[in-house]
Order: sequence, then structure tokens, then C-alpha cells
Amino acid sequence: ENFIEFKDVGKVYPNGTVGLSHINLTIPKGQFLVVVGLSGSGKSTLMRTLNRMHDISSGDIMIDGQSIINYKGKQLRNLRRKIGMIFQNFNLVKRSSVQRNVLSGRVGYYSTWRSALGLFSQADKQKTVEALRRVGLGEKLYTRADQLSGGQQQRVAVARAFMQDPKIVLADEPVASLDPLTTDSVMNDLKKLNDDFGITVIVNLHSLELARKYADRIVGLRGGELVYDKTIDQVTDTD
Ligand code: ADP
Ligand code: ADP
Repeated sequence: ENFIEFKDVGKVYPNGTVGLSHINLTIPKGQFLVVVGLSGSGKSTLMRTLNRMHDISSGDIMIDGQSIINYKGKQLRNLRRKIGMIFQNFNLVKRSSVQRNVLSGRVGYYSTWRSALGLFSQADKQKTVEALRRVGLGEKLYTRADQLSGGQQQRVAVARAFMQDPKIVLADEPVASLDPLTTDSVMNDLKKLNDDFGITVIVNLHSLELARKYADRIVGLRGGELVYDKTIDQVTDTD
């Protein structure tokens, strides 16, 4: 079942830099897809077109058979609510508690004034505890985010994404600043979201070796073009 479809997608930035060119990519529901490529190959651009942080210049992007490229207002908010984002630099509110950071994944489910006042339901507070237990940080609820290690902060970011009840989780170089041991714990947390809830996960990585360990499928970008696309059983040692 086709879930996400990039159809001949091109992206040229206002300054003329080509971000993406002629991308055709179909992603079934529940896939764990890793996108590999050097810095500047277009990985972030590809990811950011999917939640409409960037608009494309040509082609089309479909989710569940619906083009998303002209979404506005409520449709756009719903799209973004369904997509959890994880960044290289964690993007937590450093001086806020872990609980508050994780609850912010629910913000899209509240009215503006309720979320501004931090009026979250008891059920969502309970869900926060469960989300943190899933990533092994159940006891860190009231710790300030900037008192955690990098790996712990990234796992808080995974818990926050989980709180969105996402259909898709996008992780842009989530382990680039982490040591190997922590890297595996964060990758495992992402894999669990995929295994336990069927969430479609797309991860940008530098390392093909790491990609092989977790991906169902690996695609490669170079200069904004798709140059490689294999399911994990097709990947060979010479790739
Ligand atoms: P990656 O994530 O693989 O490092 P990017 O998607 O960030 O690659 O970048 C792809 C290309 O687009 C690069 O040449 C980069 O310099 C360029 N680029 C990215 N963002 C912008 C921007 N906002 N304006 C102009 N060019 C950009
Ligand atoms: P990341 O590696 O986290 O994707 P980058 O260093 O590629 O971040 O980009 C940081 C910011 O600068 C982003 O907003 C990106 O869109 C923008 N950017 C990247 N490359 C260029 C470029 N060549 N010209 C203008 N802006 C760029």
C-alpha cells in the first residue's frame, strides 16, 4: 500500500541552488527508511518538503493518495500534527522540565490558550510518563532538559514525537552528535516506534553501516538526485 509518494519532485532554492531534482520515491506504510548521502546531498531538503517546512518547485507529493503541496490552514496543521520531527540538535526547550518538553508534543491537540497556559489533561500527563518509560527515562520527569546528556536529550525528543500520535516520524541526522553506544539506544528507540506502532520512520544518516543495521530500505542521494534505492535484503557488502 503506497503511503507517501514523491512524484518527479524538484526543489530550487530562491538563490538558485538545486536542492532536489527529479525525485521519484514511493514509501509504503510502516517502512523504516534510511536516507544516506554526504552533507549537501539534499537529505534535509527532502525531509522538509514532506512536512511543508519547504515548498517544492516542481512535481507533487502525496500522502494517502492526497496531494499535500497546496495544503493551507487546518489541513496544513493536521499534516504537521501527524508528522513528528527529530533534529540533530535535539531542539528541546533547555530550561524547561523533561515533562514540559514531552508534553509540548501534544500542543497541536489543544486550543492556543490552553497550550499557552500549559493546561494539559491528566491523561496526557500520564501518557508522558509512559512515553518516557518507553525510552528508559521514566525517572527524569522533573529534570531540566539541559541537565541531561546528549543521548538522553535525544530520547526525550523521541518521546515528544511519540506524544503527537504521529503517522510519520522524520529524524534528520538524529545521532550525528552522539557517541556509538548512545547512537544505538536512540536508533533502537526509533525502531521501537516503527515495530510497536507501525509508524513510518524516515531517518537521514551519514553512515551506511548504521543504516544497514536498522533500515528496511536504504535510499541514497547525491547532488539532489536519487542514486540508490534498495531494500535491506538487496544491499551487498560492496554497496
Ligand atoms: P543535506 O541534508 O544532505 O546535508 P541539504 O538538503 O541541507 O543537504 O542541502 C541540499 C543543497 O541545498 C545544498 O547544496 C545546500 O547548500 C542547499 N540548501 C539547503 N538549504 C538551503 C537554503 N535555505 N537556501 C539555499 N540553499 C540551500
Ligand atoms: P542541517 O545540517 O541541520 O540541515 P544546514 O547547516 O544544512 O542545517 O542549514 C542550516 C540552515 O541554513 C537551514 O535553515 C538551511 O535551510 C540553511 N542553508 C543551508 N544551506 C544553505 C545555503 N547554501 N544557502 C542559504 N541557506 C542555506
